Amino acid sequence: MKLIHFMNQFPDEESCELFIKSYRKKSGIYCKKCEKVTHHYWFSGAKFFECRQCRRRSSLKSGTVMENSKLPLQVWMLAFMFISATKKGVSCLEFKRQLGLSRYETAFRLMHKIRAAMGRRDSLYLLKDMVEYDEGYIEVATKKLVKNQLKRGKGSQRQAQVAVAAESTPLEDSESGKKTRVCGYFKMEVIDKVDSEHVNCFIRQNTDGDVILFTDKNTAYANLEKVVNTHFTVTAGKEETNDTLRWVHKAISNLKRNLLGTYHMVTFKYLQNYLNEFVYKLNRRYFGEKLFERLIIASIHPYVH
Ligand SMILES: [Zn+2]
Repeated sequence: MKLIHFMNQFPDEESCELFIKSYRKKSGIYCKKCEKVTHHYWFSGAKFFECRQCRRRSSLKSGTVMENSKLPLQVWMLAFMFISATKKGVSCLEFKRQLGLSRYETAFRLMHKIRAAMGRRDSLYLLKDMVEYDEGYIEVATKKLVKNQLKRGKGSQRQAQVAVAAESTPLEDSESGKKTRVCGYFKMEVIDKVDSEHVNCFIRQNTDGDVILFTDKNTAYANLEKVVNTHFTVTAGKEETNDTLRWVHKAISNLKRNLLGTYHMVTFKYLQNYLNEFVYKLNRRYFGEKLFERLIIASIHPYVH
């Protein structure tokens, strides 16, 4: 959504309330006491929903990423707009400035709540059919570095291991015979160690189990055939690898460029959230302006699986 459209559609708090209210009604309101989606009445004066079965009341924000936040709905809507409109992400400082927030911490927390919701949304999908897998090594700032950097520039960095998988279907042009690969959904997750246990766990949790998996010949992948349908390996460094693991490698190099270009100090603690945003946008790369509404849906139902 473009800023000009946003201003027309959400000029004040009331228009945001109406929008969120209708979205929540349309998609069903979850009652925490009944532990299911139930019919709710809306009380327009005091602005809350009431469960028809148990009379439990919930506010517009309750059960969403906005829960416990004192920020106006319009600020949240503006945050959804801003995050979905920026292809490469936006730095916290810029975000704070654009939203007119007074505190850096408020902006930081708001952004990470949305990123966490993006991750929860993507965790609903499992990779299918043919899948490429590899790891990327991402430089993250240590606490010491963050402290040092505030004082005098550079310090030491550490590397985090990120497991990366992508749906990847080989295609052959019927006329030229040229082979290519088309990518689908991606997954990225910080893992503690690159060994059989952690890699198997990542593949088990992120694929439907019936996939044909392509990796290089790392010994950490020795037991992967136990968790997938078929496991093929290619020799690292050869042209074959470039083709077979094309999309995971491309995603890793784009991720590195994205983190370096937009965010200067990504710490290990929050790396997964940055991955969430990167992958969420990558998986919805053809959504265009629909991304705004999709992000609202993901933020309104962050906990419903
Ligand atoms: Zn209820």
